[in-house]
Amino acid sequence: MFVATKAKPLATTITGSLPRPQWFTENLHGRPFLTAFNGDAVYREQYNDAVAALISDQTRAGLDIVTDGEMRFDRDIGGRSWFGYAFDRMEGLSRQDHSSHGTGSRHRGFAERAGTAGDILSEFVSTLQPPKVVGPIGAGALQYDAVWRAAQRLSTRPVKMGSCCGQMLDRQSLGGFYRDRRDQVLAFSKALNEEYHRLADAGCAVIQIEEPCLHNTGGVEGEVPFPVYIGAFNAEVAGLRAKTEVWCHTCWGNPFAQRLAQQPSYKPALSHLAQLDVDVVTVEATEDNGAEIADVAAALNRDTKICIGVLNHRSLQIELPDDIAALIRKALKSVTPERLLLSSDCGFGRQGMSRTHAFYKMIAMVRGANIVRRELGLPEAEIPANDGRFLT
Ligand SMILES: [Zn+2]
Repeated sequence: MFVATKAKPLATTITGSLPRPQWFTENLHGRPFLTAFNGDAVYREQYNDAVAALISDQTRAGLDIVTDGEMRFDRDIGGRSWFGYAFDRMEGLSRQDHSSHGTGSRHRGFAERAGTAGDILSEFVSTLQPPKVVGPIGAGALQYDAVWRAAQRLSTRPVKMGSCCGQMLDRQSLGGFYRDRRDQVLAFSKALNEEYHRLADAGCAVIQIEEPCLHNTGGVEGEVPFPVYIGAFNAEVAGLRAKTEVWCHTCWGNPFAQRLAQQPSYKPALSHLAQLDVDVVTVEATEDNGAEIADVAAALNRDTKICIGVLNHRSLQIELPDDIAALIRKALKSVTPERLLLSSDCGFGRQGMSRTHAFYKMIAMVRGANIVRRELGLPEAEIPANDGRFLT
């Protein structure tokens, strides 16, 4: 159900991750979050201050929904922790051996590019170190509710909590315990569903499930059929919409801020995305200048909101507010303002850019949104960072 974006046309947010402050040098190194946060004074202080600083950046930029910048993730390589935070903490998975050669799921998900030494994705997959499933999969020490509480108490704005979805974790894991990969996919999803319910019960106003394996294969079905993925996704979110707002994030890739598909299109996946039990679906929209927004909007249930990326996480060029306003106007030709939300295409924190770039991109987004809000007679967001009185 709509909570965070209820009665908030053109609400703004980011996907989730932000570049770490350079002074945030501590890492979890596999520890449960609470073990470090409640037991390690240096980690606690750095983590707390980092989340506070990033929420401050988003508040100064005028975002309606903020995130913790995914500061639970270690300062790792190319964004490994998007998978690795779960791999290191869920039950039923072998601990990863970082001393061995990272063959793992080299041919799963990243295909031949990961096996080409001169390709940047080979570096990402070499450090990913996927685990083997050796027992019943459980949520283990994910502790999403504690992570969310630590951020939400720093802000009066809703803090969105995102997570790599179960089917993407399955895709990068090695089988061995379950009868087949279908059972393994569902086991990941059910474990995460229990974790999301703890998060929703804690009061999280928006939960974002990231990257179902539906849109990133160009419509080509692999070992796991699309209906199984759709069923697993809906098992992962089962019961959540009665408690909170549920988003599904889709994008075209982010390890080292790379796009994985050369000519991506949502069109082969539209009928699949339409079957997801969610309140909001996010889509990338900057690199094709919103060419598929109308198709996505037409395919989704009328009650499902569409969140478009208006900031490119792969480019250091800061978007201009006028250009963002033009993209929003284009979307409004096929989506009502009440049904349209604004974000980045994906997260900014995958070794792609500096904190400064991310900050000014967020400001540009809200400045662009305010241009359109003004035209529509909607209330504009306050952007403290855009107040000329404080120029020095
Ligand atoms: Zn993404």
